[in-house]
Amino acid sequence: MASTKTTTQRGLGWEHQKQREKLLRAHVEGTPCWWCGEPMYLAQGLAADHSHARAHGGTKADRLLHGLCNKQRGDGSKDDLRPAVTGKPLEQAQADQAALGVRVMPWP
Ligand SMILES: [Zn+2]
Repeated sequence: MASTKTTTQRGLGWEHQKQREKLLRAHVEGTPCWWCGEPMYLAQGLAADHSHARAHGGTKADRLLHGLCNKQRGDGSKDDLRPAVTGKPLEQAQADQAALGVRVMPWP
């Protein structure tokens, strides 16, 4: 998944930086993360996220997530399995769903 593109080439340029700063300024310490449900603190390095995933046409970041949670979320296809919903880590939720016979991700 290595990419040599810069954030600007991916469309995450100046506008995104400004939007992230705006979200960070408005952030209230301890606000629960939409993805994992844990409190968020600026010192953790929060990422600006698109509730309408960019992979599906979202253009403007409108909320903050933990940096790691933002990476886990990826293109938004696993939103239903986020820890805040299932109460368990993403890997566990995916394993449980797979065990139920529901294919979560395309087999490699
Ligand atoms: Zn989180």
